[in-house]
Amino acid sequence: MTQTADKLTRFIFDKADIRGEIVQIKEAWQAILSNHTYPKIIREYLGEVVAASVLLSATLKFEGSLTIQASGGGALTLMVVECSNDFGVRGVAKYQNPFPDENDLKILLGSGTLVITIEQSKTKERYQGVVALDGNSIAEFLEAYLLRSEQLETRLFLAADGKAAGGLLLQQLPGNREDNDNWDRITHLGSTIKDDELLTLDAKKILYRLYHEEDIRLFNAQSVYFKCTCSRKKVTKMLHSINHQEAAEIIKEQGNISVDCEFCGKTYQFDEIDIAEIYSPQVQPSDPSIRH
Ligand SMILES: [Zn+2]
Repeated sequence: MTQTADKLTRFIFDKADIRGEIVQIKEAWQAILSNHTYPKIIREYLGEVVAASVLLSATLKFEGSLTIQASGGGALTLMVVECSNDFGVRGVAKYQNPFPDENDLKILLGSGTLVITIEQSKTKERYQGVVALDGNSIAEFLEAYLLRSEQLETRLFLAADGKAAGGLLLQQLPGNREDNDNWDRITHLGSTIKDDELLTLDAKKILYRLYHEEDIRLFNAQSVYFKCTCSRKKVTKMLHSINHQEAAEIIKEQGNISVDCEFCGKTYQFDEIDIAEIYSPQVQPSDPSIRH
């Protein structure tokens, strides 16, 4: 692993009340891709959502997670990415097979919604924001969401390929609202960033390339890693969604029930005894807030 990969770096424009973040992910991105053979265009869009989820998670002020979910009626049926407050990230995409030869995000997703869920681990408290898939890019969807939820102008520049996912976030701090000159200049310079620069240059080089004439305060980089939150306990809970009869029939036909985690590929197996235990009255789930 190179020193620059899988890092999130925050920075502030000292004289302009604008904050920023740069993320570049390689190993974690490879881990997300390792169990799937996505069409190239899905890889690119999913990678952009992965980069964005890390950029947005940096504002979590508690132990918890942020999930971005895009779904609609198109051939790219679903993208889900979850990132924790300490930048453990996982994600998956689902799509119709055969997949059309189409690059337009709006056509691929169809009319649908982008749902952002923020969950606090300890209290299980949840905040959910929903926006229509209005715009031409993942960045535009999220900029619309952030303007609505935080009333702060944000610009996102995202890129991904089979090797890396990367992104740059620029956001007005509340004190900057009236200061359009700085905002316009800094976002204009930001918009000159190229995809291959986001995917290959480290944060310092990107900032020098864009803003060598600005006063920037750079904070220590934080590590980003792949983290799947699946567990046998969660899969067990999920099995309650099929009834005992159905479960018994699968056991009879196949000898066991096997559930693969879509995010990390781990297989959980349940035999006849496990299933009997799951459906015995003593261990019926009592906590409806537990997530699958
Ligand atoms: Zn998993």
